[in-house]
Amino acid sequence: MTIPSVPLGGSVEMPLLGFGTWQIRGAAAYEAVREALEAGYRHLDTATMYGNEAEVGRALRDSGVPRDEVFVTTKLPPDRAGRERATLDASLAALGLDAVDLWLIHWPPRRGKSVPVWREFLAARDQGRARAVGVSNYGTDEIDELIAATGQRPAVNQIRWGPRLYDAKLVAEHRGRGVVVEGYSPFRTTDLHDPVLTRIAAAHGVEPAQVVLRWHVQHGIVVIPKSVTPERIARNAQLTGFVLSEQEMAQVDGLSRV
Ligand code: NDP
Repeated sequence: MTIPSVPLGGSVEMPLLGFGTWQIRGAAAYEAVREALEAGYRHLDTATMYGNEAEVGRALRDSGVPRDEVFVTTKLPPDRAGRERATLDASLAALGLDAVDLWLIHWPPRRGKSVPVWREFLAARDQGRARAVGVSNYGTDEIDELIAATGQRPAVNQIRWGPRLYDAKLVAEHRGRGVVVEGYSPFRTTDLHDPVLTRIAAAHGVEPAQVVLRWHVQHGIVVIPKSVTPERIARNAQLTGFVLSEQEMAQVDGLSRV
């Protein structure tokens, strides 16, 4: 059993589990990504801002996993508005790739800049340098601005997410617009000692962290845990050997403080 993917349009499929690489640099980034690919992750999340695209790309090449089996995301820092093309060129050169699978606007640029940046993103997609394009840290009103101006929706919105931030209405608002929700910081937003999580984890013989990740996957929300610890990298990818019941899903939803 493998982790399912979500379609982003065309032939692009985004695995629901990815590997986060924020705050991992240099040799540690290379090692962590090698471990992740070895553990079975087929989706890597980086950004210009993370300063590790070269290590991520080198780890991918050295892993021997075919390029077309791994989904690679990078992100444009919004202060590069007006220099989108050069920034993507630099990302592709550092990663050693002809195209990324997903290019995101890392967070909304200054007022008035979002639509021009989005037009450059659509051009990059049309040129085949990014197979899909999307946004991060956007509100639905900010997404609507892009759609109104161009008729084209972001494939994905990558936002802070976890049981405490669970908001069914926000998910529905994204789905209604055809935008896939990708969650970030699944553990940093969660108390992994919460009794609800420890009880469900014990019932399945797994760890609370795995419950949190499995909960994302069963909701169809993309999740990108980060770790530099080989045992955790491996365990966080072991999500197919157990299924949360409807009742357990509802209990985790109930941790929401939104
Ligand atoms: P996470 O929520 O993934 O948490 C990472 C922390 O959890 C680390 O301290 C890690 O420790 C620890 N951890 C990992 N696995 C376990 C486990 N099984 N049990 C207990 N603790 C564990 O944090 P991030 O903020 O890094 O979010 C994930 C990714 O999301 C980022 O790496 C990045 O790719 C993306 N992101 C995107 C943002 C955006 O603005 N678009 C903003 C923030 C993140 P250790 O490493 O020591 O094992």
